[in-house]
Amino acid sequence: MTEVQVSGLTKKYGVLTALHELDLTIASGQFVTLLGPSGCGKTTTLRCLAGLERPTSGRIVMGDRVVVDTARRVFVPADKRQVGMVFQSYALWPHLNVTDNIAYPLKVARMPGRERAQRVQEMLDAVGLSGLGKRPVTALSGGQQQRVALARALAARPGIIFYDEPLSNLDSKLRYQMGQQVRSLHNRFETTSVYVTHDQEEAITLSDRIIVMNEGVIVQDGTPSSLYDRPNSAYVADFMGFQNILPGKVTDVRGKIAEMRVDGTSLLFSGIRTGDVSVGDRADIAFRAAHARLCPAVSTGTGKFSGTVVRRTYLGGAVNLLVRADGLPMRVRIETAELSADEIPAAGEDHTFAVN
Ligand code: ATP
Repeated sequence: MTEVQVSGLTKKYGVLTALHELDLTIASGQFVTLLGPSGCGKTTTLRCLAGLERPTSGRIVMGDRVVVDTARRVFVPADKRQVGMVFQSYALWPHLNVTDNIAYPLKVARMPGRERAQRVQEMLDAVGLSGLGKRPVTALSGGQQQRVALARALAARPGIIFYDEPLSNLDSKLRYQMGQQVRSLHNRFETTSVYVTHDQEEAITLSDRIIVMNEGVIVQDGTPSSLYDRPNSAYVADFMGFQNILPGKVTDVRGKIAEMRVDGTSLLFSGIRTGDVSVGDRADIAFRAAHARLCPAVSTGTGKFSGTVVRRTYLGGAVNLLVRADGLPMRVRIETAELSADEIPAAGEDHTFAVN
């Protein structure tokens, strides 16, 4: 397990600054995910940490070793950092079979033949590929190839493993299974893991900690549940799957609880937990579609909104509704198990909803 300390990490490509003075500490044994949309700088961060990219400036310490210090012209390349890497494209040696792919980093580390064979067998068992050692990697499915890549990355017992969107080429069921395997191998081999994805579900289910990036800076850093429940901006809320983000103004504050009015409408929401805000501040109200529930009678009050159902999508056990309330599109998800057919809101009907 390796601790990583990053300070002032900057990467420029010509006039474009892909990373702006990143500061970051990753505790040893942590599973950390860098999350964000395409172009936010997560791959560049990973590649700088792995030694595949030379930072423009900054310092990176892995364990007790300085691997980058631009002020002192220190740069340790990837093959000298004792790290493991898993890529979206698998990056296996196509002319080698499964065993030889997994054995490759062990040969480079000059591990004796018998020990090497034992280690390869252990890794084949760990990723569920025992019996396939002699198979050319080109004769494996995508999921099996990624298992070989995982086994190869872990074979030399690196203190840290870097994953760059490793599940993106797999179908959704396999993605889930492989994700679980990545996490259980992290626990079993007690590595530190840094994982890049743009998939919030993957980030939430695998990570101890999620770092959300935007335009080369960290915008939020916390546990999956803190980001899921308490995004600190509309950008993070959007990325964490909040379907409703409404610009508003703070009308009252009591401690950390605020009342807010949505801009240009009569919609009022109370009991909103906020950070430091004052009356008159602009802020966004974000809530998930599943956190709005149907109110039986047309009623008004805080946290309630009435509108016309514009669209209904059947999900099996629930419906997604697009409701136009005071000119605003609101997304609502209603469980239908307890409702009779005519109680389920239909397109064209007016209904009232309350946000929990
Ligand atoms: P993706 O998920 O699409 O890989 P990302 O969040 O990983 O996106 P990066 O690949 O880190 O983003 O890219 C960050 C920025 O740096 C982008 O604007 C990208 O176009 C730019 N960039 C990355 N690599 C290079 C390069 N080799 N030369 C020039 N610009 C680059």
